[in-house]
Amino acid sequence: MTKQTGKINVTTENLFPIIKKFLYSEHDIFLRELISNAVDATQKLKTLASVGEFKGELGDLTIRVKLDKKKGTLTVSDRGIGMTAEEVDKYINQIALSSAEEFLEKYKKDANAIIGHFGLGFYSSFMVAKKVEIITRSYREDAKAVHWSCEGTPEFTLEETEKADRGTDIILHIDKDSKEFLEEDRIESILKKYCRYLPIPIAFGKKKEWKDGKEVETDEDNIINETRPLWTRKPSELKDEDYRNFYHELYPGQEDPLFWIHLNVDYPFTLTGILYFPKIKHQFEIQKNKIQLYCNQVFVTDSVEGIVPEFLTLLHGVIDSPDIPLNVSRSYLQGDPNVRKISGHITKKVADRLQEIFKNNRKEFEEKWDDLKLFIEYGMMTDDKFYERAEKFALFKNTEGKYFTFEEYRNLIKDNQTDKHKTLIYLYATDKEEQYIFIEKARAKGYDVLLMDGQLDVHFLNHLEMKFKDSRFVRVDADVVERLIEKEDLGESKLTDEEKEQLKEVFLHALPDRDKFMVVFEQLGGDLPLQITQSEFMRRMKDMSELSGEAGMFGTLPESYNLVIDTEHPLVQKVLAEMKKKTEGRISKLLEKIEPLKKSKEEIEKANEGKKDEEVPQADKDRIAELEKKIEELEKKKKEILDSYAEKSKIVRQVVDLALLSNNMLKGEKLNTFVKRSIELL
Ligand code: ADP
Repeated sequence: MTKQTGKINVTTENLFPIIKKFLYSEHDIFLRELISNAVDATQKLKTLASVGEFKGELGDLTIRVKLDKKKGTLTVSDRGIGMTAEEVDKYINQIALSSAEEFLEKYKKDANAIIGHFGLGFYSSFMVAKKVEIITRSYREDAKAVHWSCEGTPEFTLEETEKADRGTDIILHIDKDSKEFLEEDRIESILKKYCRYLPIPIAFGKKKEWKDGKEVETDEDNIINETRPLWTRKPSELKDEDYRNFYHELYPGQEDPLFWIHLNVDYPFTLTGILYFPKIKHQFEIQKNKIQLYCNQVFVTDSVEGIVPEFLTLLHGVIDSPDIPLNVSRSYLQGDPNVRKISGHITKKVADRLQEIFKNNRKEFEEKWDDLKLFIEYGMMTDDKFYERAEKFALFKNTEGKYFTFEEYRNLIKDNQTDKHKTLIYLYATDKEEQYIFIEKARAKGYDVLLMDGQLDVHFLNHLEMKFKDSRFVRVDADVVERLIEKEDLGESKLTDEEKEQLKEVFLHALPDRDKFMVVFEQLGGDLPLQITQSEFMRRMKDMSELSGEAGMFGTLPESYNLVIDTEHPLVQKVLAEMKKKTEGRISKLLEKIEPLKKSKEEIEKANEGKKDEEVPQADKDRIAELEKKIEELEKKKKEILDSYAEKSKIVRQVVDLALLSNNMLKGEKLNTFVKRSIELL
């Protein structure tokens, strides 16, 4: 063969500048491309040997990466099938380039797609090299070695050369603005990133050791990869220990995972991998995108959004599939039907595995549930298909620490917790300590109370309310126990309106922050005189806003509570009697004055009923204003009398403080005063 010179496909004049420009942000992938080619060439040779087409010695197949700082070169050598001159011409000069060109043509407007492309193969080496040489000899008998060389222009040379061994050396003359790729540490870290699990051993220099205080090279190859990573092996060969070790290798410094799923699919697509459920102690530890995506053991990316279902991005581990199209942009990937099928399949596998553990080892499943539920709830909320599967093994935990499936729980509570509107009421607590009194009261009534104290629980029960028929979740302190699950109508309170108004004033006065309270009168069982509750609706709004961590519109929601007064309770009766005794004389005098004023006002209003504002005679308006002013003054006096009574009454203060105390709302100085007063009263 005589020396050839030629032009690489003339229309590709622009290719090199484009390679340099567009692939800028991911320069390091050139090494992944070269090593992938070397791996392919080696595996092809192994295949040929196994079918008897290659009869020679396979020998040592290690791929070697060498740096020569003086010459400014980086060399990747393999002992794979090599290439003949014709093959170099065909694969390097023609095909590779034309497919690269086609690709660039297609995506020239989408720089991201180009950057995200699974490399431009061999030609990506021109991102970092001013000149690239190939020295290669085919495995075929009598094949002549050839030398190809190109300096980043469409011109190349191809000539015969000498090469003792079969295989290929790719020599990169690193460009001056890519000097970093002559640094050992840099190359080692790229190799660790992309090549850590490649199936053919890759040596980067020699192992080093410390001798007499100095680091010296040994004779042993520095192999940077694990050729048979765990996910490529049969689950039956592996022990729990192996899975845990692999996890720690992938994520150093993490706690043991809860458990794992070994994926192994070969139809209708090929997919292997291991997914781990990490143990998460705090919400802030949740890390998305810890799954690593591989294509035939070559690392591709660890941003798997759109490839695995959203909720699985919370998992850790490895997915390896040659069937995920990697040479396209992310938005395309998300719409790709193949990817969606794969994603659906992963969901199914994960659900099946969870179901299996639940069925075969419910005890273990329950033990892990508290850590696990975050993933499952998230999955159920974001993926309906997963919900359908998980419904059978998702658990509720009650305040006694017992676990139930949804169905078991429904059966447990349906008789006793269905209200008069046929709605099944699920009672829950978010804090066993804080809501202790309410939990106890509900339980004393024979109700069961769920514990919903996980990071996602409040969101999750919103979701369940949409899924469950005729059901509602009510927090155990949302109302007095008699009204949590309304069964029959409660009796009417026997107090007059005036009595209620006076009691209301007295109790509100004794509260620390009266504007936050709404007073409600109920005829309850005479169990507790006063109770403080917070409506389910307001509660949830607040919980949600706290969860989302945003001080948005809910962040500014004022706290609001109900103060429920049991008019049947002897202490309330006692307050009423005491109040009357201390204030009635003065109050009835005031009322005698207020009554006629109110009456006159009503009469004037009645006479003007139905009239528009401008039709009401000015004299009437003035009179009303005058009456209102007088009433207001008298009411103010009445309020002062009641407040001064409340101020002095020990029972009023004591019952109010007791109610506050049951809700953990009595603190600091007020708590101190309460304790002192209690001792006095005793
Ligand atoms: P791709 O690998 O995507 O086919 P490349 O540009 O990386 O594209 O390589 C083009 C072709 O050149 C390969 O398909 C292969 O036939 C050949 N080739 C590249 N590197 C080697 C190598 N180290 N040994 C043998 N053949 C190689």
